[in-house]
Amino acid sequence: MTKEELWQAVLAQIQLNISQANFATWFKDTGIVSYKEGAIMISVPNSFAKEWLENKYGKNIFKILYNLDKEIKGVKYLVGKTELRSFKRMPFILPTTGQLEFEEFEINKETNLNPRYTFENFVVGPFNELAHAAAWATSKKPGLVYNPLFIYGGVGLGKTHLLQAIGNAVLKNFSNKKVKYIPAEKFTAGVVSSIKNHDMENFKKNLRSIDVLILDDAQFLAGKEKTQEEFFHTFNSLYENNKQIIISSDRPPKAIPALAERLRSRFEGGMIGDIGYPDYETRIAILKTKSQERGMNFPEDILDYIASNIQRNIRELEGALNRLVAYQKINNQTPSLETTKSLLKSLFVSPNKVANPKKIIQVVADFYDLKEREILSSSRKKEVVKPRQMAMFLLREILKSSYPFIGRKFGGKDHTTAIHACNKIVKELENNENLSNEMELIKQRIFTA
Ligand code: ADP
Ligand code: MG
Repeated sequence: MTKEELWQAVLAQIQLNISQANFATWFKDTGIVSYKEGAIMISVPNSFAKEWLENKYGKNIFKILYNLDKEIKGVKYLVGKTELRSFKRMPFILPTTGQLEFEEFEINKETNLNPRYTFENFVVGPFNELAHAAAWATSKKPGLVYNPLFIYGGVGLGKTHLLQAIGNAVLKNFSNKKVKYIPAEKFTAGVVSSIKNHDMENFKKNLRSIDVLILDDAQFLAGKEKTQEEFFHTFNSLYENNKQIIISSDRPPKAIPALAERLRSRFEGGMIGDIGYPDYETRIAILKTKSQERGMNFPEDILDYIASNIQRNIRELEGALNRLVAYQKINNQTPSLETTKSLLKSLFVSPNKVANPKKIIQVVADFYDLKEREILSSSRKKEVVKPRQMAMFLLREILKSSYPFIGRKFGGKDHTTAIHACNKIVKELENNENLSNEMELIKQRIFTA
């Protein structure tokens, strides 16, 4: 089992035992970063999650890991976003060989391209046909047909895949061309550090020797004036020399806020292609392609279930599939539709944006592992008082409830009790970072669960 599969297996088990909301809160963006000599290192997005996982779920996590692999002796938690989008590192199983073989794709240090993203494994449907055709043509004649090529579309819909596919194809077609893929955030960081290190000349020189420059997620340039200026000059210099520029963004150029006019008009000066939402048939085709890549073959009803429930994000389609693949490997059997539903339930939290008193109280109680009636009681226990005050505060803040109403809701208390509770929380939120983190998470749940 790879690290990713091991972690997917752990997640699958945990998910069966805790509430959807808890799962989404505490296990989002977690992953195994290393596994050496029996020690597992799990990365978590922030220190708050670290504390919570260590103290509340640590024992269980260890138990599950140990049951999966008896060599495991200890678990440590590490704060840090270590690029843990597990799907990106997911091992790739070559479908041609009878045996399962693993091949980890390595990102090329020169070009920053990941060879995993190709035209061959990019599924084309009505929603991305135009963007794909433009990308394909660009890869055949870089600098000559569409310059710049600007691709936009929502999260997880294939922009990065398509951009990198162009880069990889150019490398294959023209071995002497210099290709560079740069996420806009990295570009910004590059500008900042070369200013700091008085190294701007070098930075510019490097950029201007590129034949195909790919800038991903250009929306991150918003408001970064110095970076925009640098990019503008780089753009012009490359453009004048017939070098290809390819840009992606989550929205069209005119919708990127705080983007200098001259840069906007450059972005609009070539070909703009958008990627929409995949239709049902394409979603099924993507699931089939990705299953085959892994040497798997899931029955139609399972694919239909996934494709019907995930409609607007291809990355999530893959995530769902990854869970089933992990299940299949561990249990050596295809999950039934019922199992599939429970394995995937945390992925399908349906957005229901209405908050009401009952929901707020429920969410707060669930967050602190209390019963609803405890929150509503008159108990003076510290573990109950704070959550109760928070719930009162949220009724006031979100629903604009009156103090007498809040008092009545909480077991017929006086309106002064409600005022006191709200004031207390307002003060504490200012000074207590943990509390404000908790409040944030609770609000997220109220609005998503
Ligand atoms: P974006 O950059 O738009 O957020 P990505 O390019 O990272 O999205 O795509 C998310 C995931 O979905 C990637 O793993 C990618 O390989 C896969 N994907 C997206 N579009 C397609 C497609 N048309 N065919 C196959 N896989 C796709
Ligand atoms: Mg992307």
